[in-house]
Amino acid sequence: VENRIRVNADRLHQSLAQLGQIGATAGGGVTRLALSDEDRVARDLLAGWMRDAGLAVRIDDFGNMTGRRAGTEDRAAIVAASHIDSVRAGGLFDGAYGVLAALEVIRTLNDQSLTTRCPIEVVNWTNEEGVRFEPAMLCSGAVAGRFDRSYVYDRTDRDGVRFEDELRRIGYLGDAAARPDPAAYLELHIEQGPVLEAEGVPVGIVPGIVGITWLDVRLTGRADHAGPSPMPLRHDALAAAARLITGVETIARQTKEAVGTVGRLTLEPNVINTIPGRVTMSVDFRHPDSATLDALVASFGCLAAETWASTGVEIAIDRFWTSDPTTFDDDLLAAIQSTCEGLDLPHRRLWSRAGHDAKYVQDLAPAAMIFVRSRDGLSHCEQEYSTPADLEAGANVLLQTLLRLAGTADPS
Ligand SMILES: [Zn+2]
Repeated sequence: VENRIRVNADRLHQSLAQLGQIGATAGGGVTRLALSDEDRVARDLLAGWMRDAGLAVRIDDFGNMTGRRAGTEDRAAIVAASHIDSVRAGGLFDGAYGVLAALEVIRTLNDQSLTTRCPIEVVNWTNEEGVRFEPAMLCSGAVAGRFDRSYVYDRTDRDGVRFEDELRRIGYLGDAAARPDPAAYLELHIEQGPVLEAEGVPVGIVPGIVGITWLDVRLTGRADHAGPSPMPLRHDALAAAARLITGVETIARQTKEAVGTVGRLTLEPNVINTIPGRVTMSVDFRHPDSATLDALVASFGCLAAETWASTGVEIAIDRFWTSDPTTFDDDLLAAIQSTCEGLDLPHRRLWSRAGHDAKYVQDLAPAAMIFVRSRDGLSHCEQEYSTPADLEAGANVLLQTLLRLAGTADPS
């Protein structure tokens, strides 16, 4: 009987659409930054849905939300999780899909009056995106012991507003005893890349997450009038930054499987007739292998040294955050694969190039991820889309894998 159970796809799509109205943008996406008013409204909706589904809801000291469905055995739960915060003008599915598919699994088990042996929990992690409070995956990392509580609480956004103050303001500062404590962990997520679509495969089984490193780069030249300064005598910080930006692309293109991005840049004084004196910019490098990641950073460092020498613009590089590559649990990957085979779903193994909370949870318990195909590979934008059929397929993989791991109370 359990093998034939399927999620209610209409209910899943409806919940996704309803959550997507909170922080909705004119272009069909959402802006729901962590601990914003929009995040609060979305959390309240989710907590209500969890309680309606009979879950016992608890909030921990980082605002992570957990809804627990009891099993016949009182023990650590099998956890299905993701996040409902978003980037600015992000899509409807990044994170929200994993949380609401997990909720849909619970609703389906309720419909079937099915009790599992192991408890099942649905978790919404706080501040996964790291857009408002850097770094990303802040609160799964804190639960896994990667970050101290005081470090998390003292993170500030661009306006200098503290994490702890915002957490308290929106009413989600809970108790350390309420932290998630998984026996095993599954995260269902959109791919956010073009590989599954290119291969015509709806579901990806994710063996791990590539390493990611973030650099903060500060260029100090000399601001001066744009007229009287001849070209050879200038120290133009933006012109130097342009060399570095082009260099990031070249370095990444020359290394197999690497990606490199300059996503954030500010310049001073940013007026039309003054040579830019200061630039700050970010660099993001990703690769499945730690040593190669170090080599990418080293290449960038050489380019910066050459640029400094030839332009006279001082360049300081701070490698302020690195997330080492993560390898997920073989037994969980095998369980997901058996489930896909049982559901007759085409699937393939695919490394994640984006960070996810599963990375840190792997420190606490066996973890793995399931991907569903993204249209045009797009995400972190309003055009982010996965078909209803693919979203349904992924939710059924989650449902059946959870049943496999949690076990049913009355095997028939
Ligand atoms: Zn996400």
